[in-house]
Amino acid sequence: MTIRTRLTFLYSTLLAIVILMFSAVTSSILNWTLRNQVDESLLEVLGDVRSYAVITLLNPTQDNSAQGAVPMPQPNSLSTPGLFVQIWLHDEQSQRPFLQWASLSLMGVGYTDSLDPEALDSPHEVRRDVVVDNVHLRVATIPLNVNGQMVGHIQAGSSLHTVDAAIDRLLEIMLIAGAGTILIALFAGDFVARRALRPIDAISQTARQITAADDLSRRIPYDGPPDEIGQLVETFNDTLGRLERLFKVQRRFVADVSHEMRTPLTAIQGNLDLMRRIGHDEEAMEAIQSESQRMTRLVDDLLLLAKADAGRLSLEKTMVELDTLVLEVYNQARVLSDGVEVILGPVDQVQVVGDSDRLKQLLLNLVTNGLKYTPDGGTVTLSLNRSDDWATINVADTGLGIPEDDLPYIFDRFYRVDKARSRVQGGTGLGLSIARWIADAHGGEIGVTSTQGKGSTFTLRLPLVPVQVAKESIRKTHLNLPTVRLPGSR
Ligand code: ADP
Repeated sequence: MTIRTRLTFLYSTLLAIVILMFSAVTSSILNWTLRNQVDESLLEVLGDVRSYAVITLLNPTQDNSAQGAVPMPQPNSLSTPGLFVQIWLHDEQSQRPFLQWASLSLMGVGYTDSLDPEALDSPHEVRRDVVVDNVHLRVATIPLNVNGQMVGHIQAGSSLHTVDAAIDRLLEIMLIAGAGTILIALFAGDFVARRALRPIDAISQTARQITAADDLSRRIPYDGPPDEIGQLVETFNDTLGRLERLFKVQRRFVADVSHEMRTPLTAIQGNLDLMRRIGHDEEAMEAIQSESQRMTRLVDDLLLLAKADAGRLSLEKTMVELDTLVLEVYNQARVLSDGVEVILGPVDQVQVVGDSDRLKQLLLNLVTNGLKYTPDGGTVTLSLNRSDDWATINVADTGLGIPEDDLPYIFDRFYRVDKARSRVQGGTGLGLSIARWIADAHGGEIGVTSTQGKGSTFTLRLPLVPVQVAKESIRKTHLNLPTVRLPGSR
């Protein structure tokens, strides 16, 4: 069963229940009100008849002492049509009530039984619905007391025909009106549900088309109000947009990785073919070795990024003396440099909380880049200074510089200004991506300023943490590793 049908049925059933309850309550109220009116008039008549009866019984004459048709003065109230009155007296000898007097309406049809026999035993007022000769009556009975002694009962009955007819009519009208309303509600409910759910149909259709056509660029068209459905469409479209972007990034990444892997493999293959033809060749062997080293580096870098993406790269946080770390990197860089001078600028004493191995890896990436992209005779300068809240490390070179257009992208994976040059230098195109993640994971930031042909300055800023907080952070890191993760893909 579709949601539309279910909603329509639900609305209609609820409406039917409400109409039924309303009809029941309305007819009960009407019934109660009309019966009250009947009871009131019956009691009024009974009161009148009692007064006459008491007078008659207190002044017995020849005529009225006999059982049966007693000529009693008729009160005006007795003239109401459909009203029946009986006076029953208690016979001392037979211990049974006998009919002392009956109104003309009963005498005319010769009715001599009690209208409500059970009530004749009660010392209290009794009101009851009874059916006499297929006529629905309301009968009220009151005891008849003379000189403080109960001598019999007076019964007055009134036909409930008008009351029953009024209630039947009301129920009839309610039934017809109710059925009509429910029918209208069924059609209207179906129409409204269809209209309201139309965008959902559009969503599922688009989702099916996307699956069928494998096309994430599609969006659901919606020009309705920004209600729940509107929000659903918006969220769905946002999700599609995000998925589309992620797939693009993933596709580009896979293409980049395949390309990066294929290049060294082709080189290795070519050199092996060469050696098969000409025999052992030292140059070819060196090329094979250097390409396989490059591939190993590439795979290592990729693994590291994959771990970072999956949030499985933990940092071993300790108090790190940044000045010592900078000195170590400086010494290592001097060994690596060939034709480029490595200079140590001003170095302040600074401690930060961090993973010293990762921070060293970051700095080495920056410094080796400086060495790679600076021609002989140039310089790479390392410096460290502290301000109020930050430790700032600058790696400035006098090298090629980076064109302005490329600057926003150089931290992206596999982005290289000059692919061929990077490749010759043994680069993987992942060094700066890794550097950025390490900086982020330390709550720091990394940036670059560059002038083409003049050189570049990479700046790493790390937050200085108050000693107490730092100790606490280190304690936590060691208690439940891994606590600090490199962030996932941006
Ligand atoms: P690679 O392994 O190619 O060096 P990186 O991610 O470390 O990869 O750097 C990305 C690109 O940024 C490099 O290919 C290079 O074009 C550019 N680059 C990085 N550092 C420098 C620098 N100091 N001077 C000029 N260009 C740089």
